[in-house]
Amino acid sequence: MYRLLHALTARSSVADLLLAWEDLREDLLEETLTIQAIPAPTFAEQERAAYVERRFQALGLADVVQDDLGNVYGRTPGDDPSAPALLISAHLDTVFPAETDLTARREETRIYGPGVGDNSLGLAAMIALAEQISRRRLVPPVDIRWVATVREEGLGNLDGMRRACDRLGGQIGLAIVLEGMGLGRVYHAGLGVRRLRVVVKGPGGHSWLHNGRPSAIHHLLRMGAALVEEIQPPGEPRSTFNIGLISGGVSINTRAPEASLSVDLRSVDGEALAGLEESVRSVIRRYATPSLEISTEVIGDRPSAALPVNHPLVQAAIAALDYAGFHAPLLEIGSTDANILLANGIPTVCIGITTGGDAHTIREHIETTHLAAGMRQLTLLALLAAEHIEAWSDRDQNI
Ligand SMILES: [Zn+2]
Repeated sequence: MYRLLHALTARSSVADLLLAWEDLREDLLEETLTIQAIPAPTFAEQERAAYVERRFQALGLADVVQDDLGNVYGRTPGDDPSAPALLISAHLDTVFPAETDLTARREETRIYGPGVGDNSLGLAAMIALAEQISRRRLVPPVDIRWVATVREEGLGNLDGMRRACDRLGGQIGLAIVLEGMGLGRVYHAGLGVRRLRVVVKGPGGHSWLHNGRPSAIHHLLRMGAALVEEIQPPGEPRSTFNIGLISGGVSINTRAPEASLSVDLRSVDGEALAGLEESVRSVIRRYATPSLEISTEVIGDRPSAALPVNHPLVQAAIAALDYAGFHAPLLEIGSTDANILLANGIPTVCIGITTGGDAHTIREHIETTHLAAGMRQLTLLALLAAEHIEAWSDRDQNI
């Protein structure tokens, strides 16, 4: 892998770009903050998508288009358009509701702002790399497909990437998913997630006059208590259980006609996840009663899937990080758009552009010191992947 990397960096066009990232840092930050200022809650990414679409058009990318969900696509034509393409993606949406104050502030080497790292910087990095590849006429050996996806966070359930896979899947050989934060880590496996919403419905009534009627809340509380007491997710393979949302009732003096709770189950292992879900469902079944209607709906499903650490794409990501100055990368399991690509059999890694912290909170921040290193890593990984796509995407290879 290091031999391939050296051959690549020995090319003057590549060496020039690797050096240039130092001077392009401010441009990258400016783009990041422009994107960060555009609200993009999951399911309401339109304005940010429109911005990315305009940027793709301005760069002169081919086939710039949005699909019905609002994913934005662009293409850098390669030498061999019939070969499998390289997909590079970053998600558009944030966890912040539309009314969130998005004001960003800079403090020395830090930039604070909701969504600045997750994932404004990921989007800005994608645009910046596409721009430099076009400007410098670094024609890749195969097409690069750029995609800004919707619905990556929370209840979006990775539906944006699901749609992108339906649209492009057959043409993609390898994929790189970008996150603004997490530099120094290589996500090569997708954490499986199942989310269930349990709804209890009853006749309702007055708290005094209809005291004998069943209450949806009372019943839900009993069931919830049993879940909390009895569900013990295994530590190995690592799995988790959480009731993160609970709601119901209409007023303090009403026998509740409806109540619900939402359960989030996670595991690194698909079978363990299925087992965990079955134990949750069996507790719910035990609380079946003729006087109340109980329904369970799957509101989230992220498949678990992994790329072996010795896969050349993982090794290339490690080598690119090493070149950029991060010598002991952490191999991670995540829950990102990469889950969908991996589950579709497309070798994928997810990488970060800089370090940062407090993601998904209003204290979210990124460090600006590592930006050039992060872009060097991305550039090398993208060019290596594009160059070796035929061999590395061979699904029958022995690894
Ligand atoms: Zn993210």
